Amino acid sequence: MIDFNHVNKVYDNGSLALDDVTIHIEKGEFVLICGPSGAGKSTFIKLLSHEVVPDSGTVIVNDMEVSHLKKRKIPYLRRRLGIVFQDFRLLPNKTVSENIAFALEVIEEKPKVIKERVAAVLEMVGLSHKANDLPQDLSGGEQQRVAIARAIVNKPLVLIADEPTGNLDPNTSKGIVELFKTINNSGTTIVMVTHDMEMVKYLNKRVIALEDGRVTSDRMRGAEFNEA
Ligand code: ADP
Ligand code: ADP
Repeated sequence: MIDFNHVNKVYDNGSLALDDVTIHIEKGEFVLICGPSGAGKSTFIKLLSHEVVPDSGTVIVNDMEVSHLKKRKIPYLRRRLGIVFQDFRLLPNKTVSENIAFALEVIEEKPKVIKERVAAVLEMVGLSHKANDLPQDLSGGEQQRVAIARAIVNKPLVLIADEPTGNLDPNTSKGIVELFKTINNSGTTIVMVTHDMEMVKYLNKRVIALEDGRVTSDRMRGAEFNEA
């Protein structure tokens, strides 16, 4: 599903963000990427969506060679990825259901299909009763659920989450990762960046640690993971 082969990335200012990173992630896995600030976690995620291109090495997502993708193929790649951020990034002037529907409108899905899919994902994230509310009227945890619903409504190959619980209290965070587990159990591959060690242990999934742009550990069970 995801293949990084000897990936190097140095930014224009000379910052070494990734240094010979080789990572293989199978379809259906739930993988956590952790490490201190500046370790290269965001760069790893930006390479998946072609926001950043490597200086050398290859990045492959579902048979697409992202590292050498033609410009006109980039929207196609991004449509196959669902991305969730720490700060939710909902459209403030659209209701919950409009926020989710928007992801389908841009790909010109039929109105009937949009209606059905929006209702289905709202039910999955437990927010059917908030369909007509604006984001500002929801709690942080609820806003993140809307963002997750929007990310999965296109049935992405991979759900990518960059510090999705970074703005949430521990209890709300657990609810969010339980939702990720449900989504993962339905077959979606999940890659989640976190520096919350409690969460790593709680989830007990595969955890890849980055430090100074290098993979320093890769373990199948988060509970066995110890910060160096
Ligand atoms: P993390 O997400 O783990 O905090 P990043 O991938 O954001 O790490 O950053 C890795 C390194 O690359 C850091 O040294 C950071 O300062 C640098 N970096 C990240 N983005 C840029 C950029 N756009 N321009 C220059 N340097 C960057
Ligand atoms: P994150 O919380 O994801 O690690 P940061 O606060 O490190 O994000 O970075 C925010 C934005 O600034 C990102 O888009 C990142 O690529 C960029 N950035 C990070 N470090 C640098 C840097 N040294 N020079 C320029 N841009 C940077």
